[in-house]
Amino acid sequence: MSRTVYVNGAFVAEENATISIFDRGYLFADGVYEVTAVIEGKMVDFDYHMERLARSLGEIDLKMPVTIKELRQVHRDLMARNDLSNGLIYMHITRGVADRNFTYPENTKSAMIAFTQEMDLVNPPYVETGVKIATIPDIRWARRDIKSIALLPQAMGKQAAHEKGAYEGWMVEDGLVTEGTSSTAYIVKDGVIITRPLSNAVLAGVTRRTLLALAREEGIETEQRPFSVAEALEADEAFITSASTLVLPVVEIDGHEIGSGQPGPVTRLMRETYIKTAREG
Ligand code: PLP
Repeated sequence: MSRTVYVNGAFVAEENATISIFDRGYLFADGVYEVTAVIEGKMVDFDYHMERLARSLGEIDLKMPVTIKELRQVHRDLMARNDLSNGLIYMHITRGVADRNFTYPENTKSAMIAFTQEMDLVNPPYVETGVKIATIPDIRWARRDIKSIALLPQAMGKQAAHEKGAYEGWMVEDGLVTEGTSSTAYIVKDGVIITRPLSNAVLAGVTRRTLLALAREEGIETEQRPFSVAEALEADEAFITSASTLVLPVVEIDGHEIGSGQPGPVTRLMRETYIKTAREG
């Protein structure tokens, strides 16, 4: 079935949606994006996504083409027009259309697109078995805190991981795990959830933000510090988070079983807690 998508202020059938070949998103990856989960008709952590979007835009001197209120309405309209109860809403904002030139054009209106992807986020494949991770070198730029639409290193990394039979790649720099190609990385040791602290080296995951707050509410200790691949292999549990995977158990890294080789109790609890909170909206 054809979706209705959003392009620069209009809702159109996906086959009729067009953007200019001069859009700077297309020519320079000059733009930023967000992906929001929808569970049972509720947008998950929407305010946090908008907060991060505003920050990403600010970091590249790009103006919001619409207000946050209008953006929320665009998301709601997309859900309604596509009858979306479970899935994702992708949106991006680019510096718009201008003749090709590296410097930012003056007086160019920023451009925005958004679309839905239907997906059963609560009961995906792998949630019972857990997933495998392959480690890969982190070959990205130095501003990973900006949610840039330039995703070639992540696409290359995810492809390399898939070719090794893994679901996700964990990117490694100076022996330490930065994050997944499209997710935040965690290990659990002696009941403590460990994840890398925020910096320019990683994206500030929205799911991470909520997960760490929920863990504290559950009385689970959290530690924000880098960890090595060697430490991950010795962990009791491991997992990833993102808007599209929510909380997903990791049971193998580079062919080594993690813990019992089954999704661990802390991971299970955090997935259940995260989904329960999302449902309560
Ligand atoms: N890290 C990277 C590199 C990502 O691309 C993503 C999501 O796309 C995440 C972490 C997780 O972020 P969030 O929880 O906001 O989806």
